[in-house]
Amino acid sequence: MADVREYKLLIDGEFVDAQDGATFESTDPSDGAVVGRIAKGGREDMRQAIEAARRAQDSGVWADMPQKERSERMLKLWEIFQAHVGDLSDIEAHDGGHTIRMANLFSVPLGIENWRAIAETANQIGEYEPVPMVDYPAPAWGIVRREPYGVCGAITPWNFPFILMMWKAAPALATGNSIVIKPATYTPMSTAEFGRLVTESDLIPPGVLNVVPGAGGAAGEELASNPLVDKVGFTGSTEVGRRIMQLASSTVKKVTLELGGKSANILLDDADLDVAVPGSLWATFLHSGQICHSGTRAFVPASIFDEVVARMVELAEGLKVGHAMDFETDMGPLIHKTQFDTVQRYVDIGLEEGAKLVTGGERVDVPGADGGYYYRPTIFVDVDNKMRIAQEEIFGPVLSVIRYESVEDAIAMANDSIYGLGGGVWSRDTGRAINVAKRLRTGTVWINDYHLVSGFGPFGGYKQSGVGRELGTWGIREYQQTKFIHVDQSPRKDQKFWFQVLGL
Ligand code: NAD
Repeated sequence: MADVREYKLLIDGEFVDAQDGATFESTDPSDGAVVGRIAKGGREDMRQAIEAARRAQDSGVWADMPQKERSERMLKLWEIFQAHVGDLSDIEAHDGGHTIRMANLFSVPLGIENWRAIAETANQIGEYEPVPMVDYPAPAWGIVRREPYGVCGAITPWNFPFILMMWKAAPALATGNSIVIKPATYTPMSTAEFGRLVTESDLIPPGVLNVVPGAGGAAGEELASNPLVDKVGFTGSTEVGRRIMQLASSTVKKVTLELGGKSANILLDDADLDVAVPGSLWATFLHSGQICHSGTRAFVPASIFDEVVARMVELAEGLKVGHAMDFETDMGPLIHKTQFDTVQRYVDIGLEEGAKLVTGGERVDVPGADGGYYYRPTIFVDVDNKMRIAQEEIFGPVLSVIRYESVEDAIAMANDSIYGLGGGVWSRDTGRAINVAKRLRTGTVWINDYHLVSGFGPFGGYKQSGVGRELGTWGIREYQQTKFIHVDQSPRKDQKFWFQVLGL
């Protein structure tokens, strides 16, 4: 990767400067080095992008293209993205602090595979659905036509910028919408690079895809409130999600929201601890815990509690915290100082609340990476599920291990949360685990695994973790209006009951 990459705004198929010439620097969370210089879109730039998207949409150049062709073009793009996995992974590592192993094996390939799954699924499910024939009041048949919403806005967070952008761009484009994407200012580069690859391919007409990095309070608010926008797909904090809902309500836009989480990871007493204990760390410490559905509350039966905690501590202390580009690194940096301060504050709160720290709870100094904010994998025990560290999203490498006496208690505590995004159940008995999964009020449950999201299945939250779903047919449908077309089969006047109803 070049030392400092430069990206402009992508509006109407052109790479342009912000109207006021503003730019911002993107820095490497591992060491603070500047890695990108990005045009900073303001409200007026965002309006231009939205208007371009509206023109492209209304022209029908993309919306009226046969589904098969749209999907085929997206599959050609999939090949292009695949050829750039290495470069996109470098960007995600330098711009977002993804360890280079995670970027290459997970964050980038998963996003690209999800793009393919959505392009293929959109083609398979087609645009029309039959509706059973009705004979009251007179024979008629109906069809449902799935149509694009129109202009979609996508607002994404900093933790998984590439994947979460793909979860919005792919279904929007596959179903004939145009889109304006606003990535987080901390991590704009993989989205800007995606925009460059798409534009250079000439596979998607100008104006259909627009990328405008910029501040949430300016470019983001414009996108969420502009009357020309029909739908907003947002991933980020629950607090900002509430604001997006308010802004979108002014013109009653469709919204989908993927928000915060405090997910429960339940070990049953018959779990295979050789997998469940490392699995619990995988659930919590991937990307230094900066994942919305991280399993940050581990529920462990009293009968095996001490053994599980001892094993967790030993494994956690063996994780190597370091620079994201170091191939030996298991856990990379936190995104920025503010996030580091938040994590430290919650550790202090946990101690004040009476939880016991069994490992971590402090900064790690990484030689040669002074500008990075690194935190040790941290485990608390003696945690009551009512404590703030068990109720509030920390978004860092902090695991609360909570003892339980009965599975009923574990389920009740797991559900005692404003969130409901992910969750895990570990057991040798799959049927037993599924019975627990059924009772968790959460959008995804992994059994004997964690984090593995399928491009063919839905992802999203219960309660304050979100509205709507991404991925699979469920995610695709969120980008389509349904139009019902009623076709009457009783052409004669004497078959029309409404002559009598209105006295015609
Ligand atoms: P954030 O809510 O601060 O920001 C998300 C995006 O919203 C950014 O692009 C930001 O610029 C923009 N934004 C901020 N204020 C805005 C406003 N007033 N109007 C319009 N846009 C605005 O979130 P973050 O700190 O970037 O990401 C971390 C959060 O995201 C965590 O809470 C995490 O749980 C959540 N998250 C959820 C999922 C999920 O799928 N549910 C996935 C990843 C992250």
